Amino acid sequence: MSIAQNLLSIKNNLPEQVTLVAVSKTKPVPDLMEAYEAGQRIFGENKIQEMAEKWEQMPKDIQWHMIGHVQTNKVKFMAPFVSLVHGVDSFKLLKEINKQAAKNERVIDCLLQIHIAEEETKFGLDELELDSLMESNEFQEMKNIRIVGLMGMATFTDNQNQIKKEFTHLKSVFNNLSSKNELQHFSTLSMGMSGDFKLAIECGSTMVRIGSSIFGTR
Ligand SMILES: *Cc1c(COP(=O)(O)O)cnc(C)c1O
Repeated sequence: MSIAQNLLSIKNNLPEQVTLVAVSKTKPVPDLMEAYEAGQRIFGENKIQEMAEKWEQMPKDIQWHMIGHVQTNKVKFMAPFVSLVHGVDSFKLLKEINKQAAKNERVIDCLLQIHIAEEETKFGLDELELDSLMESNEFQEMKNIRIVGLMGMATFTDNQNQIKKEFTHLKSVFNNLSSKNELQHFSTLSMGMSGDFKLAIECGSTMVRIGSSIFGTR
């Protein structure tokens, strides 16, 4: 099947409230353009430089999502255009995004990444770090970022029960936070990739990040 066919068959089967991020990392611009021509406007990348190069070359109505781990010293390269940063996993990074957004006279939407997997290697905040971040005065005073939700990645495993447990946990952290805090735009729960997005949606995901099922293996 073509990229356009893959895209449309996934899109047509998503519930209405679930947003599709087409993860185009490592793929060339013509592949992305095929998805664009088929109607896709949200693309996810995991390297800032690659995302900036594609942004320059492609139509300006695309929303670029940064889904990977972000190095603080590279935030300035995406601050002019990025539409959502999924992987905010430290206060230091959030401060830098706020600073660079201010320089660009923008407000940048962010998701806080929560560590839900068993693997040590996956980035993210634990719940204590999350609480102390949300409750700090410094956070309250940041005017150029907006926390619109949470993101998480499940353990890389075939064990569906384990994945389900991790997604369910993230959903409950999300629910707690949205009831506890008066965050006005807190509505996005980014969880689910090619291998586990159906399960993620069952567990309450509102945004799925799908790469290989659209663009082929990397
Ligand atoms: C690469 C990547 C994806 C997409 O993975 P696929 O298995 O190709 O769908 C989703 N989320 C993140 C954070 C990624 O790095």
